[in-house]
Amino acid sequence: MRDFSADHRWLSLNTATVRKQGDLVHIVEACARHGIRAIDPWRDQVASIGLDRAVRAVRDAGLELSGYCRGGMFTSDAARRIEVRDDNRRAIDEAVALGAPCIVLVAGGLPQYSRPGSAASRDIVKARTQVTDAIAEMLVYASEAKMPLAIEPLHPAYAADRACVNTTMQALDICDQLDPQRTGALGVALDVYHIWWDPEVLPQIARAGQDRLLAFHVCDWMVPTKDILNDRGMMGDGVIDIRSLRSAVEAEGFSGYSEIEIFSNAWWDRPIDEVLQTCIERHRSAV
Ligand code: ZN
Repeated sequence: MRDFSADHRWLSLNTATVRKQGDLVHIVEACARHGIRAIDPWRDQVASIGLDRAVRAVRDAGLELSGYCRGGMFTSDAARRIEVRDDNRRAIDEAVALGAPCIVLVAGGLPQYSRPGSAASRDIVKARTQVTDAIAEMLVYASEAKMPLAIEPLHPAYAADRACVNTTMQALDICDQLDPQRTGALGVALDVYHIWWDPEVLPQIARAGQDRLLAFHVCDWMVPTKDILNDRGMMGDGVIDIRSLRSAVEAEGFSGYSEIEIFSNAWWDRPIDEVLQTCIERHRSAV
């Protein structure tokens, strides 16, 4: 397992962590000030400054990407399926332009919540089938663009409104079904916030192996969690055994960035330099 205690060479910042503090240019400048070498930007942040400007900002700062957030939200009724497909193709094109190593996929929950305007449904089984079918379709376009797809399983609390792929096992089942040859085109993004509670997580990380482990996201689980979406903790402030999970992915050969992704009303209220300084300290001491 790599020693993170001496530097933050392998820290990547998911830019949602400081999304309220400024635009993507502002965030990139702050990363440069703090010697942060990689980011994972969100599509809305890229769109708000324009793709060309985002590409230039990343390049001029010498930043790498650890991913691109996000594609997916596949569940919708038939009338919207083409719209969803095309939007995901644009996400792939943007990821290529930005030089991302993969695009993170959040599956979508029940159609009416993932795509407002879609018909109401209680059929989570059907939603899951739709997700697999849509990833199969997206994989064709992504493979031509040489952009790997990283399915991020989300905590079951999000099954209705964000992702009906809720465990590492379920995400890997989709990978095995759609990419049995393990071509590297399809894998998982494992976020400790979503997987820490799962009794199957360690054997599933072993099952994934290096070629399916495309991204590793860290934050912490606060007790109590006041807001399931926007009360993530800074690493070390909660109950997740982050180091065991990092040890498990690295034992399989994962050698990429440890990406800090904290959606938190509390941290969004702090100055960006304080947040990044704390991220660096905790990356060294708690990741
Ligand atoms: Zn994540």
